[in-house]
Amino acid sequence: MPKHSSLHHDLGNGASLNNPERAWLAALGELQMQVTADIYRMYLQPARFLAYEDGTFLIAVPNGFVKDWLEHRLHRVVKRTLEHMVGRAVELRFTVQPPAVRDANGAAPAPLLQPAEAVESRPAAQSAAEPSALVADYVFETFIVGPNNRIAHAAAMAVADQPGSRYNPLFIYSGVGLGKTHLLHAIGHRARQRGRRVIYVSGEAFTNELVTAIRTGAQEQFRAKYRTSEVLLVDDVQFVAGKPSTQEELFHTFNALHAAGRQIVLASDRPPKAIATVESRLRSRFEWGLIADIQPPSLEMRVAILQAKAKAQGAALPNGVLERIAALVPTNVRELEGALTRVIAYAGLAEAPLTPAGVDAILADMVPPKAQVSPEELLTLVARHFEVSVDDLVGSRRLKNVVLARQVAMYLLREDLNLPYTRIGEMFGGRDHATAMHSVRKVEELLDTDEVLRHAVDTLREQMAQPASVAVRRR
Ligand code: ADP
Ligand code: MG
Repeated sequence: MPKHSSLHHDLGNGASLNNPERAWLAALGELQMQVTADIYRMYLQPARFLAYEDGTFLIAVPNGFVKDWLEHRLHRVVKRTLEHMVGRAVELRFTVQPPAVRDANGAAPAPLLQPAEAVESRPAAQSAAEPSALVADYVFETFIVGPNNRIAHAAAMAVADQPGSRYNPLFIYSGVGLGKTHLLHAIGHRARQRGRRVIYVSGEAFTNELVTAIRTGAQEQFRAKYRTSEVLLVDDVQFVAGKPSTQEELFHTFNALHAAGRQIVLASDRPPKAIATVESRLRSRFEWGLIADIQPPSLEMRVAILQAKAKAQGAALPNGVLERIAALVPTNVRELEGALTRVIAYAGLAEAPLTPAGVDAILADMVPPKAQVSPEELLTLVARHFEVSVDDLVGSRRLKNVVLARQVAMYLLREDLNLPYTRIGEMFGGRDHATAMHSVRKVEELLDTDEVLRHAVDTLREQMAQPASVAVRRR
């Protein structure tokens, strides 16, 4: 989009170096879009601007582990993004500064996971600052509650306050960026405040740790570690799908903890019954307690989230501007945050006050062109593309091509038209929420590897963005 590049151009004359801190924040906003959620959270979010001098940005980081990542693995992408932002070559220097106590206007100071505490709760062999530490900001106080997440939130509070006694396990699922990890960390913080031994681990980290333990003959220590936790938080547990030995270990850990009345909380991108290739005995454990989902936030809720986040950053943005951001970023809270960071950064650099139209320009390259078609028109386009009839598309035939077309239709209805899964299920002859969700995931997976499918989806998106192509053909 030309608008956006001209915006960069305007900033490219060094003007933004009048306010290097804003430039750093703007770069963080960009980076949030470029790296995975975990990388951002662990290494970039805690990095604070300290000073700028002679082309060098001095950035404070909380510990040596983060510093190491920024200096080695992330150096290039950070430098490139920052240079793009300020329009000149810059250098980066990182320095370790443990986080200070937070400002008085923030929420109650969250217990930061300091190295001493981390070491205490994990074997000495592991780095104190490894990615399983809890993020300080992910506390209940900063979590906005609304109709889309009320049950998950209430259940999370209950298990944090009285681990092991209410919902065990608590299983939370949702699409990406909707607050599962935030809630798990919030439980962890609160349970720790109450003196409980908490372990937070992702399905992936659990798997890797187990593999290492097996290789080094340290399986007993591995077991002992997990079995002494009073609250075990397993994030992105869908990762164990298709990994029998991890499942086996998790199964036994689960049983040991559950029998001892310890709390288990699991988060996943889909409900237990939609996790394919998980042994049924483990799946049934997942279903023992309470299953709570988080739905994408409504427009109203997105505005509320933006208001809270803007306030926390001390940024006074007009409501019209926040509403515009909320309208442009339809589903994902993480992207909402990235968009806000970016808008705040640009607002600080701009001469004129920010307007809703200004927001459009700032976010232009972030926001995909809006689909112009109705759900019914979309079905027509997909059916035509795959050379099947609309009746077959919404029917129950299992021909390979029909099944794929059906999955792609569900995917586009979800991703581009933002239809709720339940509604999508209904459109396809009363299939359920989980089926629709499974289809969407399936297509997401295929898109990683299947060039032909990617092309089909691109083509369909082009057609969706041009209402004429539907209208003309519909005649
Ligand atoms: P998930 O684990 O579901 O992919 P995360 O917990 O990582 O999502 O959330 C993505 C980002 O959005 C985080 O920075 C988180 O703090 C924020 N977020 C999500 N939901 C909320 C909410 N209800 N209130 C405040 N922040 C939220
Ligand atoms: Mg997560």
